Amino acid sequence: MNQLDKIVALCKRRGFVYQSAEIYGGLNGVYDFGPLGTLLKRNIRDAWVQSIFTTQNNILFLEGALLGSHAMWEASGHTQNFSDPLVDCTNCKRRFRADEIDLEKVCTVCGKKAWTDIRQFQLMFQTQVGAATDSSSIAYLRPETAQSIFVQFKNIMSTNRVKIPFGIAQIGKAFRNEITPKQFLFRMREFEQMELEWFCKPEKVDEYFPLWVKSREQFYEHLGINKQHIKLREHDKKELAHYSARTTDIEYEFPFGWKELEGIADRGNFDLKQHSKHSGKDLSVYDDETKQSYIPHVIECSVGVDRLFLTLLCDAYTEDTIDGEKRTVLKFSSKIAPIKAAFLPLVKKLSDPIHTIYQTIAGRGYMVEFDESGSIGKRYRRQDEIGTPLCFTYDFESADDNCITVRNRDTTKQERISIEKIEEYIQASLA
Ligand code: ATP
Repeated sequence: MNQLDKIVALCKRRGFVYQSAEIYGGLNGVYDFGPLGTLLKRNIRDAWVQSIFTTQNNILFLEGALLGSHAMWEASGHTQNFSDPLVDCTNCKRRFRADEIDLEKVCTVCGKKAWTDIRQFQLMFQTQVGAATDSSSIAYLRPETAQSIFVQFKNIMSTNRVKIPFGIAQIGKAFRNEITPKQFLFRMREFEQMELEWFCKPEKVDEYFPLWVKSREQFYEHLGINKQHIKLREHDKKELAHYSARTTDIEYEFPFGWKELEGIADRGNFDLKQHSKHSGKDLSVYDDETKQSYIPHVIECSVGVDRLFLTLLCDAYTEDTIDGEKRTVLKFSSKIAPIKAAFLPLVKKLSDPIHTIYQTIAGRGYMVEFDESGSIGKRYRRQDEIGTPLCFTYDFESADDNCITVRNRDTTKQERISIEKIEEYIQASLA
């Protein structure tokens, strides 16, 4: 089994991620997040919010609608440009993204060379809003969160006390009818984005662009991702998206190669200009200093929650041997780990006192677990596999010396600490 298959299996086995509608055969490119996955996602979102705020504190949030009107997506350029080149094999009927395969060669599935012409495939999911079936009712599920930020830019500015430069951030679902969803959470049809649009004066772009690139790089370091697996890649001119004047990707070395984790783009004033033109509404801003109006420029930082989820799993997944026994461990940083600590009685009959300790710590807002079933070795293995950094074990001496054993996930080293010090110990591990 390759590493990605092992991660997929672990995610299912431990309740991180399930194939959506699995009992009906699944829906390709769509996933449900189980109890641990939900916690991990929440930690990812929280860390992102904290990270953008520590870079610049004048950032506002938006929760835009998932459905968007045809007019909006036409103005943004998506109805015309948001497509991928599609090619079919007429022999085995498989579908491919034309830019991902060599059309000079035979089909990798059936070994025949029988390609159709390349066609552009629209990636937005189109739907109909209301009972009318004419073109006026066409709407789309958003393929990115950014557009609602641009469309609401003027409302946000006029109803909040903000001045350029400032940011609008959004975390939410996006939908793309990817031709070939693959590599688990890497390319999905329904996914979640964390996007920041930073509005500034045109002449300030060269100052803010590197600042955001640096900040985003530091974010991944802060999450404990191995620096060796992260690199920056600047897009060359012909690769740039229709809205972008400059893009730097932050790439991660996945088990299937170096791929984009996050895109940082200088969108210029493309979006606000387009929406101004198509809606007929003035989206310019008045500059008190120059006494002139201008359309702000935008730097965008965009990363997928799910793609980062997969990155964290790939980076944390480790197989090692402890005292001759093989184990699988997710070496998540404590900040991101779904469960911060587990409370375990050495044997079941010691459950009551440690359950009380567990309840006290849980009651103080820590995401912790209590587990009394099975052998202590098995319980440690489970906690290792879900990435819990600390296990506190109550044993036969605990009642007498008021101490507990704490086991470190990565080293498996154990030390004995006073029960009073448990919270302090967890706090220190989260710092
Ligand atoms: P790619 O080249 O991988 O298709 P993209 O350049 O189209 O990505 P963007 O439009 O820049 O992606 O989207 C911003 C971020 O959203 C990406 O860096 C990625 O983290 C995430 N993302 C985009 N598409 C998907 C998807 N289909 N599944 C999961 N995450 C995605």
